[in-house]
Amino acid sequence: MLKTQGEVIVESLGAAETVTGSKHLLRTPELAVLIDCGLFQGHKELRQRNWAKLPVDVSEIDVMVLTHAHLDHCGYIPLLVKSGYKGKIYCTPPTKDLAQMILLDSAKIQEEDAERANIGKYASHDPALPLYTVDDAQKSFESFVTIDHNVITKLSNNISFQFIRNGHILGSCFVDMVCFGKKIVFSGDIGRYNSGFLANPEFIDAADFLFLESTYGDRLHDKEDPSVPLGKDIGATLARSGNVLIPAFAVGRAQEVMKILSELEEAGTIPANTPIYLDSPMAAKATDILSRYSDWHIISADMIERMHKNVIVSQDFGETHKIIFDKHPKVVIASSGMLTGGRVLEYLKFWGPNANNTILLMGYQGEGTTGRDLEDGKKEAKVHGQWITVNAQVLQISGLSAHGDQGEMMQWLNGFKTKPQKIFLIHGEEGSMEVFKQKIETDLHITVQIMPPAEPVQLFKI
Ligand SMILES: [Zn+2]
Repeated sequence: MLKTQGEVIVESLGAAETVTGSKHLLRTPELAVLIDCGLFQGHKELRQRNWAKLPVDVSEIDVMVLTHAHLDHCGYIPLLVKSGYKGKIYCTPPTKDLAQMILLDSAKIQEEDAERANIGKYASHDPALPLYTVDDAQKSFESFVTIDHNVITKLSNNISFQFIRNGHILGSCFVDMVCFGKKIVFSGDIGRYNSGFLANPEFIDAADFLFLESTYGDRLHDKEDPSVPLGKDIGATLARSGNVLIPAFAVGRAQEVMKILSELEEAGTIPANTPIYLDSPMAAKATDILSRYSDWHIISADMIERMHKNVIVSQDFGETHKIIFDKHPKVVIASSGMLTGGRVLEYLKFWGPNANNTILLMGYQGEGTTGRDLEDGKKEAKVHGQWITVNAQVLQISGLSAHGDQGEMMQWLNGFKTKPQKIFLIHGEEGSMEVFKQKIETDLHITVQIMPPAEPVQLFKI
């Protein structure tokens, strides 16, 4: 039984001690509510966790609430529905559009990877199977129900919630819940202040319990405007006839990078006729979704038009090789952002060995990913089962992360007029969470607990 008797419990089914696979189960006497349902990403041991059955009977989960469309928060939804989940999946309108696009793409990649592994015979399972199919993803879409931000939705007699915008990606929100008279807030991923792309994370006045992400709990981003290093690094690479590869999440970063590159080209910081490619059909679709939801971001319609004008969008996989082997120095944005799959790997395979080229890492690189290896200075990478040497210059531009850093998260925490009674840290790597815990306890005098994996924690008795 997931419903409880006389108590409210939260259980982490993922993303307690790691930054992917976010799934938090709120168990009450009235409902069992799942907040997010993400895929584990990163090294093999993490990815294999996606194959393990969830430790609960999913048919007993009553409701799901989705904070945003990143795969590590929504990527398990098709399997949840396939395993018997019958409830609604609440999210904001942009999140629905983005999540459905991402899930279809994820299913397609998994089908293709399984097929490629079977042909190449490099799978650890024989035959290799997709985690879920395009058909599974489509079936799960019937459960999505959209709700705008700041609209209170009653889930049962004693449980209601609203979405509050948190500035992380288009459509992303905090989940602000009232549960048997107590306020419980789930942060999702917290975005940036003054990003020039989305409005700042909104303050919440009060909470009893806060489940807080801690991806950058131990770090501060560069204060420098990211367009400065971006312009400098791209300029230097183009001057030596090299190519620039920018791995970027298809949703969020890709559009922000497009905007900055467009501005740099208009300002003459990078030569006006430099070809800039966005080689990701999904990022192209995400840009269309951006145009549809003008109330959800702060980029002008004119800027979106200029982004489209200055950046060539490549839809067709056949074009990737044409772009790779074309002799003109160029800039390419391709996903995935942590080089865990997708077209970016094709560029890495051919451009990685050349020392004239540059790989610009933008966002968080999860442990065990090729992106993290490159960030750590590793000179080789495995692409589709084969090792390649990486001589290209690898640089990091931390100012473009979609996650708030320690300072920004503290800024947001300072906005509470009534401080949370307790904060549970989730969605971070171990070292980072320890540092963040100390910081919050010292500066704000709030009790902090690092959320244990797969262990029920009682919030209060009723
Ligand atoms: Zn995210």
